[in-house]
Amino acid sequence: MNRHIVIVGNGMAGSRLVSELRARDRNLRITVFGAEAAQPYNRVLLSNVLAGVTAPGDIGLTDPAWYAANGVDARLGQEIVAIDRERKTVTCADGTVTGYGTLVLATGSAPVVPPLPGLDAEGVVAFRTLGDCEAIIRLAGGARSAVVVGGGLLGLEAARGLAGRDLPVTVVHLGGHLMERQLDAEAGGVLQRTIGDLGVRTLVGARLTGARAESGRVTGIELDDGAVLPADLVVLACGIRPETGLARAAGLTVDRGVVVDDRLRSIDDPDVHAIGECAQHQGTVYGLVAPAWEQARILADLLTGGDARYEGSRQVTRLKAAGIELAAMGETTLGDDEAEVVRFADPTRGTYKKVVIRDDRLVGAILLGETTTAGLLTQLYDRAAPVPSDRLGLLFTGLSPATPTETPVRIPDAAVVCHCNNVSKGRIRACWEEGAREVADIATMTRATTGCGGCRDTVEGILEWLGTQEVTFPTRSGRR
Ligand SMILES: Cc1cc2nc3c(=O)[nH]c(=O)nc-3n(C[C@H](O)[C@H](O)[C@H](O)COP(=O)(O)OP(=O)(O)OC[C@H]3O[C@@H](n4cnc5c(N)ncnc54)[C@H](O)[C@@H]3O)c2cc1C
Repeated sequence: MNRHIVIVGNGMAGSRLVSELRARDRNLRITVFGAEAAQPYNRVLLSNVLAGVTAPGDIGLTDPAWYAANGVDARLGQEIVAIDRERKTVTCADGTVTGYGTLVLATGSAPVVPPLPGLDAEGVVAFRTLGDCEAIIRLAGGARSAVVVGGGLLGLEAARGLAGRDLPVTVVHLGGHLMERQLDAEAGGVLQRTIGDLGVRTLVGARLTGARAESGRVTGIELDDGAVLPADLVVLACGIRPETGLARAAGLTVDRGVVVDDRLRSIDDPDVHAIGECAQHQGTVYGLVAPAWEQARILADLLTGGDARYEGSRQVTRLKAAGIELAAMGETTLGDDEAEVVRFADPTRGTYKKVVIRDDRLVGAILLGETTTAGLLTQLYDRAAPVPSDRLGLLFTGLSPATPTETPVRIPDAAVVCHCNNVSKGRIRACWEEGAREVADIATMTRATTGCGGCRDTVEGILEWLGTQEVTFPTRSGRR
């Protein structure tokens, strides 16, 4: 039997699958093709690179030397252009043909570029890759003003990063309020005000009709009300589309993504799998790193003889923009059903908090302006655990004895704290007992906090709490 595993796509899902496979089986034959020439990197951190808080050199995931040292055939900068499922081969853009036993598609997504005139001008850049990020930074250096098209997570992070570089920036957003996929209208309004105070102008309900250019270089964008916004840098953050062209051409069932079952297998071919943003499981295509890495972990288990099943992921979104605290999860815009909604709004101070509870379980939440209970809410949401009767404690710390200052105590050892890397509270406690005292120590020992970074507060809280227990429970034998 040909056990050769060929992975197409060496982004966050593909590169994680490679390391998960190798950690489980030293002898497995693995080949990975990546269209990007760079070593795999943490795409999530591109917003930090754009904002100038992280250096491009600090976001690498797998060192190129690792591949040789670990017997992995890594073909960086090589794009696969065809799959022949009968012959079980893939063909590279340079014509080379490689046979596979098992094929994994991890091709991610491509940015949506609206089919409008002028968007091919120089100075118009989508925001997806390290190359895009470097181009935006270079263009921002000589620009007088910028427009970001799209007021979702990505667009707002890009706009905040550009404003931080002292560039006047306007966000043009088609929807009725910012981040409408994660926020209700009121939260969107509060966010608009907050980001406005940070130097980002926003136009909601604004439809782009095209870009203006002179000598091939963008000079502005046009809106459907006739307004023209001058800009010598236009960043497109209008959404993403799963990269499914190869799969479709190979006759695999594709809806929005490559349709896979609970073994992350194409429903048409047991030798072809798909993970990450190109995969569609139970009707959902995920656009976050935690599901991509969870899928990589489960598939690695399955391909090395395990019997795991993927059951879907819970999604928690955090905005990474200096001066804005925002976490959102689950259902935040409900119709008038039986759900219990607890809200606090202080728009002038940029604070908006909302929890949605159904059948005594947290089904959705927004924390904007102040996110101290984000760790607690994430845990409750994730575990579908019963919420405490003290609803106020879900929104504010320190108001009652049962509030989230106790969060780390409340979380059971088995609870997963870092979803990107599947790190439990118990594992963090074990690291602490081995001497880890800082978040950086935990990151080195477990990789917790190194994915989307959303668990950082919780990890800090656990370390702080363990510190307070040091006298009482200094050793493993003292665990409770
Ligand atoms: C700026 C930015 C900020 C983000 N912030 C967050 C965040 O805060 N939290 C969060 O959870 N997620 C965030 N995301 C989303 C997250 O990065 C993605 O969910 C994650 O990268 C998906 O991993 P993937 O492997 O499926 O796709 P990718 O990481 O895009 O990797 C796909 C790879 O496949 C390669 N490829 C495609 N086709 C081929 C082919 N035919 N042959 C060879 N190679 C091919 C591509 O070049 C690419 O390198 C952010 C994304 C961006 C762009």
